[in-house]
Amino acid sequence: MRKALTHAILSSVGFLLLLGASAAAGVEVFDIRYWTAPDHTRIVLDLNQLAYYDVFELRDPCRLVIDVKEARSLVKTKELLVNDQVVSKVRWGYFKPDVLRVVIDLVRASRSTVFTLKKYLDKPDRLVIDVFRTDLEQNEEEKRSSFKKSFQGTRIVVIDPGHGGEDPGAIGPSGTQEKTVVLQLAKKVRDLINGEAGFKAFLTREKDYFIPLRQRWKIAKQYDADIFISLHTNASFNRKKKGAEVYCLSQQGASQEAARILAAKENASDLIGGVDLSACSSEVDSILVSLEQTRTINEGLMLGKTLLQEMKTVNSINFPEPLQAGFAVLKAPDIPSVLIEVGYISNPTEEKVLLRREFQGKVAAAIKKSVVLFCRDIHREIAFAPEAQAGSVPGAS
Ligand SMILES: [Zn+2]
Repeated sequence: MRKALTHAILSSVGFLLLLGASAAAGVEVFDIRYWTAPDHTRIVLDLNQLAYYDVFELRDPCRLVIDVKEARSLVKTKELLVNDQVVSKVRWGYFKPDVLRVVIDLVRASRSTVFTLKKYLDKPDRLVIDVFRTDLEQNEEEKRSSFKKSFQGTRIVVIDPGHGGEDPGAIGPSGTQEKTVVLQLAKKVRDLINGEAGFKAFLTREKDYFIPLRQRWKIAKQYDADIFISLHTNASFNRKKKGAEVYCLSQQGASQEAARILAAKENASDLIGGVDLSACSSEVDSILVSLEQTRTINEGLMLGKTLLQEMKTVNSINFPEPLQAGFAVLKAPDIPSVLIEVGYISNPTEEKVLLRREFQGKVAAAIKKSVVLFCRDIHREIAFAPEAQAGSVPGAS
């Protein structure tokens, strides 16, 4: 416990950030909220501008303290009850007349990262505090990696409901949020797949919190997944636009301009949902799609084609083939991955349809059927063409 605390203190020193001369001339904090994930809690402060701040930790009881300089709170309350596994309460007040002190009461010693996010689209400047319980993180990882062993011979499918938490995804004309629709749908897909002998499905998130794009396929890897499917709903300025689309990763640029634009939009999820970019090493950022991924991408395309065949029985499809672009969430090197845009949430009619239980059930059934057909086809390929497969083992050349 002491070790964890020391680590947290040391890491906090690194987060004494100075954010430029223009900052801190009267910072206003106008909202404070939190999101609970299974292994961490995220606390977000909405600011009118970026702020100077100090971070440190106190013991007995364990607290994380953030002093926001030259700041005042416009939030009416003085505390936020959290009561999850990581944080019990967030409270704030003035340490000095112009220093707003935010105190986070921790359940036990934890690891923390504090970072700012610049204004982006309709999101204001934000101060983000992530508090991780290392023991819970380890539990989550161990739980995921133990499944493959206990379900040997079973096909593992990881379903990723896009967005979540700070990132609502696309928002329909009546206010329906993409993150809510895709979570409902993902649970239906999971349940149907789990009813299929020889298959087991898991979700990347079961509740409303954000997961960075890279972390989503890393979760699939921890499960040792055979298939990864990211679920989304599309949006367009043209409110008449409707129908489903399926996307795969591309090795060399986007297959069409539409795919490039969509990938840029979906990849912006990290900017909206909130990723500490200063913590990303260049090695992390420069994960390129290598030639070794050819086979995985081809399998993703096969799955994508099967999905389109099934999806067109429940909704119109806009392209007869999967389109390809550099989707960050599809970059698992060895798991066939697809991204489905189930429909256009920006279309008032389709927004309503997307929320219908019956429609979600049909889409889920179409996805489940595609998964089963794809696995049967892949299995047949492996069974009937062992030489061809051996020759194309990734990295063999
Ligand atoms: Zn999306």
